[in-house]
Amino acid sequence: MEGTGLNQGVYPIDRFEQMRTPFYCYDMDLLHDTIKEIKQLTEGYPYVVHYALKANANPRLLKEMASRGLGADLVSGGELSAALAAGFVPNKMAFSGVGKADWEIRLGLEHEIGCFNVESVPELENINDIAGEMGKTAHVAIRVNPDIDAHTHRYVTTGTAENKFGVSKEMLPDVVTLAHDMPNIHLSGLHFHIGSQITQMEPFIMLCDSINELQSYFEMYDVHFETINVGGGLGIDYNHPDRHLMPDFEHYFGVFKKHLNLRSGQELHFELGRSLVAQCGSLITRVLYVKENRDKKFVILDAGMTDLIRPALYEAHHLIQNITSASNECETYDVVGPVCESSDVFAHNCQLPTTRRGDFIALRSVGAYGESMASTYNMRRLPGSVFLP
Ligand SMILES: *Cc1c(COP(=O)(O)O)cnc(C)c1O
Repeated sequence: MEGTGLNQGVYPIDRFEQMRTPFYCYDMDLLHDTIKEIKQLTEGYPYVVHYALKANANPRLLKEMASRGLGADLVSGGELSAALAAGFVPNKMAFSGVGKADWEIRLGLEHEIGCFNVESVPELENINDIAGEMGKTAHVAIRVNPDIDAHTHRYVTTGTAENKFGVSKEMLPDVVTLAHDMPNIHLSGLHFHIGSQITQMEPFIMLCDSINELQSYFEMYDVHFETINVGGGLGIDYNHPDRHLMPDFEHYFGVFKKHLNLRSGQELHFELGRSLVAQCGSLITRVLYVKENRDKKFVILDAGMTDLIRPALYEAHHLIQNITSASNECETYDVVGPVCESSDVFAHNCQLPTTRRGDFIALRSVGAYGESMASTYNMRRLPGSVFLP
């Protein structure tokens, strides 16, 4: 019964009437429950959970994550500054990404962040040089590309041999030796991140097997790692958000508890983005017009791809609900935005209760890669945000 306005009443429409649309609406209770669940499942294990800021860097959300003791996974100097401002502790920060600029490396070293996740030899050399100039030691993990297909959309798979991320397993021994020999580098671990929106556990099990194999290999040469970082990537249920407000974290962490052979004293790091925040967010937008062509009806929203680009970029599907209409009749619409691009479409042939100009529409499960990817293309205003309760 999705898309039929069943969720009506959950949203404070009166409050929304006062707001300029479109805006992101965040369910803070759900966020707290999600963090609590993760804490409970990792308690007693040498696990460190980082939040991947790129999923959503809204300052209010960052403060929640930081105040509950999560670490931060960063992919830019801007995220590093945002993480510091939100109160994340530098030694629980990991800096990822294939293209770290010198100023970003300097900023990380200046604040003595916990780890640089390094993706290539030239990057390693550059970090060693900059750390030398600054009289610092850079703590580093080598990102390994384990060549595992995460069976997800081709734009969000990162762990197969043909994409740009990480160092191949074949090259890894040389890179590890190189890192050990660099005077300003402290090699603390191995890093992995195989993709995003992964809904099956098999790729994570394969990742564990791959890590076990690598650790055994390196132990033959008496090489040991303090940390193993398995990245993020756990998917969420975009089709039935109300049925699965949280992903199955128990199953997810259970995979690592069961399949990964951590060595004594070793820490296991996670970098969760989407799975922490996606279900907490809805994009609230109003219907500008209902337009009828010969054989199609369009609902034209005041939100577009500039507010939420996932449908245009990844062919992503978000559940769409009319949270105003009390109509029992359903009609079929294409739900589109106002931006001058043919890809500015949120859904084709979407069943909604009879919809009128002025109705509020909720696009669900947009807490991750929604607000953080918003742009001002067409010189549009950036969406605002509200926090419930
Ligand atoms: C994007 C990213 C993450 C978070 O991915 P999710 O799928 O949102 O959990 C974690 N680690 C790295 C290195 C990333 O690039």
